[in-house]
Parts: sequence; C-alpha cells; structure tokens
Amino acid sequence: MKGVDLLVINANLITMNGSREIFKDYGIAILGDTIIDIKNTEDILENYKSEKVLDAKGKFIFPGMINTHDHLFQVLFKGIGKEKALIKWLADAIQKPFFNISNEDIYLAAMIGSIEQIKSGVTTIVDYQYAHGRPFLSDSVCQVWEDLGMRGILARGYTDSCDFPKYSGNEIVETEEDFFDDVRRLHKKYKNNANIDIALAPGIIWVMTEDGFKKCASLAKELDTFNTIHTLETEEDNAYSMEKFGMSTIDFYEKTGILSSKFLAVHCAQINKEEIKKLKKYDVRVSYNAISNMLIGYQTLPVKDLLEEGLVVGLATDGAASNDNQNMLEVLKISPLWQKAFYRDPSVIPALKVVEMATIDGADAIYKKDEIGSLEVGKKADFFIYNHMKANTVPLYDPIVSLVYSADENNIETTVIGGKIVMENGKIPGVNEEELYAKIQIAAEKLWERSNIKK
Ligand SMILES: [Zn+2]
Repeated sequence: MKGVDLLVINANLITMNGSREIFKDYGIAILGDTIIDIKNTEDILENYKSEKVLDAKGKFIFPGMINTHDHLFQVLFKGIGKEKALIKWLADAIQKPFFNISNEDIYLAAMIGSIEQIKSGVTTIVDYQYAHGRPFLSDSVCQVWEDLGMRGILARGYTDSCDFPKYSGNEIVETEEDFFDDVRRLHKKYKNNANIDIALAPGIIWVMTEDGFKKCASLAKELDTFNTIHTLETEEDNAYSMEKFGMSTIDFYEKTGILSSKFLAVHCAQINKEEIKKLKKYDVRVSYNAISNMLIGYQTLPVKDLLEEGLVVGLATDGAASNDNQNMLEVLKISPLWQKAFYRDPSVIPALKVVEMATIDGADAIYKKDEIGSLEVGKKADFFIYNHMKANTVPLYDPIVSLVYSADENNIETTVIGGKIVMENGKIPGVNEEELYAKIQIAAEKLWERSNIKK
C-alpha cells in the first residue's frame, strides 16, 4: 500500500487521451503534482492510501481547460466602452485607464479573473499582460497564481503609443529594451516555478520596430519559450503593415522570423486561404476568441478551414473588457455555435472537437501537450469534477455534449491544479470571496475616476 497525496475514486473519467477513452467507476492516484496511476476504483483503493480522498460517485472528471488568451487586468474594465469598434474601444475602454493601474488593482483583477476561471473549469491561463504603467505589474499577476495555485503562462506584453491611435493621449512608459530586460528578469525569477512560465507578447503589429520583432523571435528561441501576438484581428493590421512595411502582416512576420513553430497567433479573424497555408507551413498555433470577436463586431476565424489544413486551434476568453467575463463555459458553447452559423452547417466543430480544443489541443497550442491537457499517468493532476445533477444538465445523454451546451458554473464542483485542490464544492480555500468582490468594486471606481471614465 503506497501513500499518496490525493486520491479520486468512483469517478467517470473523460481522459482525452490518444484514444479519447472514457472510464467508468475509476480512480486516480496523485503524488505531488503528478498523476501516478489511473485504474478502476477497487484497484486504486487496494494499492494506494491518502489522507485526502475525493469521492466522485456518479460524477465526471474532465481534464482542466486551457484558456489560451486573456488579459486579467481587464477585469477592472468589465462593462466599459461597449458598442464600439476595435480602435475606438481600445482608446475608450483600455487606453484611458491603462496607465493608472496600481499593483494592488492588478492583483485584485487577476485574483477575481482567476477565481472565475477556476469556477468554470480552467486550470491554465495564458495571460497577455501588457499594462505597464509602473514596474512589476506582471509580478502581481504571477503572485495571484502562486497564492491560488493556478497554472499560468505570463506572456509579458509590450505596447507603446508610437503608431497607436493618435488620440489615445498616452506616453511611452517603457522602451523596447526595457521590455526585453523585463522578459529576461521574469524568466529568471520563475525558471524553477512548477506552475508559472514566461512567454513574449509583443502587443500587435503597430507597437514595435522591425528590429524589435526580430529580437522577440531570437529571445523566444534563447529562452525556449514562444511569442504570442494579436494577429489579423481586424483590417487595421494589414492596412498598417502594407503602409509601413510594404507587405502583409503574415509576410512581415515571416520576414522577421516571428512566424515559426513557437508562435501562438491570436484571433486571425481576417485570415485568407493563402495565409492559412502559410501558418501551417510554419506550424503556427492559433487562439480562437469567439466572444471577443463577436463583441467587437468582426468576422470569425474560419476554424473549419484551419482544422482541415491541420492547424492546432485553442480556445480563449480574451480579456474581460471584450467579453465581459472570464467564464470558459460560455466560450465552450459560443465557439462552435458561431462556426455552425458562419458555415451554415450544424455538423461543423462537433462537441468532442470543442472539448479537445479546450483541453488537449489547447495544451498543444501553448506547447504543453506533454504536461497537461489529458488525464494520463505522468501528466500534471489538473482536472475538475463535473456534477450534472442540476436543473440545467439533467437528464444527461452524453457528458461531452452536456459540458459544451448545457453546463454552467454550478456544475463545476471541485477543481484541482497540480494535485492541489484549488476549489472544493464551489469554495476557494483561504479566500473570503465577498470581501474580495467588495474590494474590487471600490478599487475599480477609484481607477475609473482618476482615468476620467464617465458614463
Ligand atoms: Zn487580446
């Protein structure tokens, strides 16, 4: 009898392994942050003992979901700047308060955004952190993840006002070199952290120099990480690139070396067939942000075309300023619905593919397929318990269809990340949620006031 740190018993496991097996009345043995065994409950109880046992009788366990694109600081901007197109939305909802955010503000925003995601089954977040009005704001996001036990990739962003909408009225607060220095600092700081990784996130095509993009490509190689960029979200990308560099965005990325197998392209809503082929040539990963694209009023990423080309596509909430929450279950439902309407074909993106994009493909999209994305021996113990015995999910015909089309947060009972229970029966241990929610309301009102945001 081997002592372990956590046991799960009597569960129905949606493994998302290579054969997409589903096991009934199974158990999981977890040692440290890793799954060390998956067997039927009887065998698990015969071979392992643990002080902590989660009995999931009659319930389902899914691998934790992966949110491939977010801006946690934008939780502070929830509800602001609605009914506006991208550039005007950026100016009104983001640029005005952007440089007024304090470390305390961003900590609260990241805490609440991460909690909402834990409650909707997310266990890994790629946070594209580009608010840099003062130093160490990225560290505040990582601190939240350490405090909660969240898994995350801090994609250290860079943005300036050089070619940004002239009316934003912001001044550059850090140089390109400051950005590279801070990426190196963060990389060093979190190198040995089991839950946190660092990536590079040059904001969008109009915020950096050609030399800056080349440096991003080589620094990602040096640090063995990846670049992620808002790519072809709207027509402005290509228009800017044609005018400034005399070529399309994708051709420019190819020229600078950014277009590579270590590149997560976000949005790609304006992509054409030729560009899809070019993304495949370089094995680029793609993040699909359905709700955000719809809210800003742009066309959709043609996901079926990308999948047919063999590209890896992950799902994402995007920041709360263009969503306006962090609920991954809404993303699960709306992502395929928009594709079905776009292609006028109900067979497009079946429920299993949606769950794949949220788990194993999402892991692939962020270069962590060997570590997370499925319930398999040797992988990190990241999962959630799905209790379908609620009004919105009974009767249950197929657990995968149920999760995609019927679920809400009250079905996500318990969430585990790296073997640590980060939510049990809907409660986040060690967090006074009511106090936290009152605090962010006050902090946000103060931020809106000093940023001159009025209704
Ligand atoms: Zn974004």
